[in-house]
Amino acid sequence: MEIARNLTEIKQRIMDAAKRSGRDFEEIKLLAVTKTHPTEKILEVINAGALCIGENKVQESLAKIPELEGKFEEFHFIGHLQTNKVKKIVALRPSLIHSVDSLHLAEKISSEAEKLGYNQDILLQVNTSGEESKFGVSPDKAFELAEAVSKLEHVKVKGLMTIGKFTDNEEEIRASFRLLKEIGKQLANIESIEIKWYSMGMTHDFEIAIEEGSNLVRIGTAIFGVRE
Ligand SMILES: *Cc1c(COP(=O)(O)O)cnc(C)c1O
Repeated sequence: MEIARNLTEIKQRIMDAAKRSGRDFEEIKLLAVTKTHPTEKILEVINAGALCIGENKVQESLAKIPELEGKFEEFHFIGHLQTNKVKKIVALRPSLIHSVDSLHLAEKISSEAEKLGYNQDILLQVNTSGEESKFGVSPDKAFELAEAVSKLEHVKVKGLMTIGKFTDNEEEIRASFRLLKEIGKQLANIESIEIKWYSMGMTHDFEIAIEEGSNLVRIGTAIFGVRE
């Protein structure tokens, strides 16, 4: 019950943020971040209408996603991915992998997707905050990475992902998101990539992200409560 109520509230806040920035609510996708939560709870959120779910760990995805098969519409992998675990995650056929930040990783995804006979949609993760603790390609290397990845046959770049700066300073958070948008514009002309998705915004900053052009918000805590 609480999950359904939280979800309704989040949707309203997404709608309000969209309205404030003159955007269409319908174009913003909500990804329910289900990490650490058991499948019963995930079913609750799916039944409440959140049909896109996101996980950040390979082992956890392997344990949970097959069990939920047929219940959700999209599974997104949003966490840091090591090349030696690519095969396992690709086998789950995620709709989108948000966290590609090196050519080496993209090549591995491409070759594993090829073996299964499909093309994997991916986002390039950019470290827009300059925080060392965060993964992602640095902004000045994003173009080069996108160009190289665009030449791979079995991965398709569909946009960019970032994690906003971890601070209470709203202007600094906003600057992270603005930078991602700018990089997206720079990459728009590269052949065979499409910058459709801007994956930015989490529980504490999704409204700012939407104001800055996010169309894919990744929300966990505000739906499920604080993780243990
Ligand atoms: C955990 C996580 C989220 C969701 O964070 P909340 O603050 O719980 O909304 C979003 N994106 C990534 C990459 C995550 O790992």
